Amino acid sequence: MAKEVKVNLGERSYKIVIGAGLLSRIGDYLPLARNRQIVVITDYIVGKQYSGMVRKALKKYKPNVLQLPPGEKHKTLSAAAAIYDKLIDLNIHRDALVIALGGGVVGDLAGFIAATYMRGIDVVQVPTTLLAMVDAAIGGKTAVDHHKGKNLIGVFHQPKLVLIDINTIATLPSKEIKNGLAEVLKYGIIRDPKIFKMLEGNPKVSPQFWQKLVYLCARIKADVVSRDERETTGLRMILNLGHTVGHAVETLTGYKGFSHGEAVGYGMAVAATIARDLKLLDEAVYIRMIQLCAQLRLPLEINLKAESVIGAMKLDKKVKGGKLRLVLPVAIGKVTIRDNISEKNIRSALKELGCK
Ligand code: ADP
Ligand code: ZN
Repeated sequence: MAKEVKVNLGERSYKIVIGAGLLSRIGDYLPLARNRQIVVITDYIVGKQYSGMVRKALKKYKPNVLQLPPGEKHKTLSAAAAIYDKLIDLNIHRDALVIALGGGVVGDLAGFIAATYMRGIDVVQVPTTLLAMVDAAIGGKTAVDHHKGKNLIGVFHQPKLVLIDINTIATLPSKEIKNGLAEVLKYGIIRDPKIFKMLEGNPKVSPQFWQKLVYLCARIKADVVSRDERETTGLRMILNLGHTVGHAVETLTGYKGFSHGEAVGYGMAVAATIARDLKLLDEAVYIRMIQLCAQLRLPLEINLKAESVIGAMKLDKKVKGGKLRLVLPVAIGKVTIRDNISEKNIRSALKELGCK
C-alpha cells in the first residue's frame, strides 16, 4: 500500500505519495485533464532506465520526453534556455504539466523551468534518488547554479504532487545511497529517534524498509515546509544541521573531494562534537551518533585547515550579521539553534575530527 503525506500550504497544498511500483501507474496519480500536454524532463541515465515505463503508463497523452546530460554541472541557465527553446518548438501551452523525473539536479532544473515558462506551469516531482526523495523534491525550492555559487538563481514553485517510487532506489549506485542516508540520519537527529534506530539496526534493506524510512523523513520535511514555506520563521533552519560546516567543506574541496552527503555527515559529526564539549549532549549519546556516522561510512576526518573551514563558514549565505549560527544536537531527535558559538569551540571540534 502506498503511504501519503500532506504538505499543508493553503491553496498550494499537495500530497507526497510513497510506494513501490508507482511509476508504472503514474497516470492514476497525476492531475490529468483530457488531452493535457505532458513534458517529462529527465537526464540520460534516469531516462534510459525509467522513461519507457512512464511513456507507456501515459501512452494516451503522448508525453514529450526531454533528456539532459546528467550531473550538477549541467544545472545551468543555459541548459534551461535549451529546454525553453524545445518547449516553444513543441508548442507547449501554459496548461501543460511538467514531470521532473530524476535526482535533485533534474528536480531543481525542471522545477525552475516549470516556475518560469509562461510565468509558471504545473510540475510534478518524481524523485529517483534517495537524497531527492527525502529532501530536494519536497518544499518547492527550484534553482540553477551560477559560476560563483550553487543555487544562486531560483524561485519557490511548489509542485502539484510528489510521487515517490521506492523501487527506483534499486538501480541507484551505492555512493548515491550513502549520499541520501546522510540526509536521512539528519532527520533522525533533528526529529525522530525511530529513523535513527532504523539506521542503527543494520537492516535487511527491502522495499518495505525504504518505504517506511522515506515516509518518516518526508513527513518531517513536509511538516517543516508547511510551517515555514519560505524560510522566514526560522523553523526551516533546523534542516541545516551539518550544512554550515558541510557547505564550507564542499566549497573548499571544489565540490570534488566529498559528496554533499559526506560533507553534511562530517558537519553533523562536528556539530555533535561541539554540543558534547558545551555539555549540551551526553557523552554516551555522542558516541552513538559518531558510531552511526562511521557505520554509514561518512567521513570522520578531513584534511583541511580548521581556519579555512571557519573562514568558509563565515561566507555562507545563511550567516546573518557575521554571526555563526549553528544547529546542535541535544539528544537523538532534538536540536537547538545557537548563534553564540565561539570560534574556539568550532576550532577544537574540527581539530578533534582531523583538521589541522
Ligand atoms: P542528487 O539527488 O544527489 O542531487 P543527481 O540528480 O545529481 O542527484 O543524480 C545523481 C546521479 O544518479 C545522476 O548521474 C543520475 O543520473 C543518477 N540517478 C538518479 N536516479 C537514479 C536511479 N534511480 N537509478 C540510477 N541512477 C540514478
Ligand atoms: Zn543537504
